[in-house]
Amino acid sequence: MADYDRVVSLSREKFEQSGPSVAELRDDTKSTKSDDVDIARMERILDLREGILAGDEYYLQKIVCECGRRLTMYDFVFTGLVDAGHSKSLIVHTFVGNKLVVNEARPIRCSACARVCPRPWYRMPQSYGCRPPA
Ligand SMILES: [Zn+2]
Repeated sequence: MADYDRVVSLSREKFEQSGPSVAELRDDTKSTKSDDVDIARMERILDLREGILAGDEYYLQKIVCECGRRLTMYDFVFTGLVDAGHSKSLIVHTFVGNKLVVNEARPIRCSACARVCPRPWYRMPQSYGCRPPA
């Protein structure tokens, strides 16, 4: 996925079937929800004005890195920039665009120590997520 123009949106029904349940997202033992500080960090790394990403929800499967950091969607954005070579524009468009997008899960890099961790699921209930790894 290198160009948002070429991304094909799923139907809302297919999108809803693709991810973890709402109960799983809300379960703090299974899922890490980005707080305001985490969202502000994502805005800064993506060169966005403050508040652009506020109001949406960002969940990452609970993973605690060996260094002690509990990974968040910020680490997912960091990984997309550093490892996948995605442009900031593509990530922003995927986050705030109107297409419903589901990708395969990918390894994630810890933004604190740069260690590569297993493939977590991630989910923005409004528009974006991945299939939980089998
Ligand atoms: Zn780490």
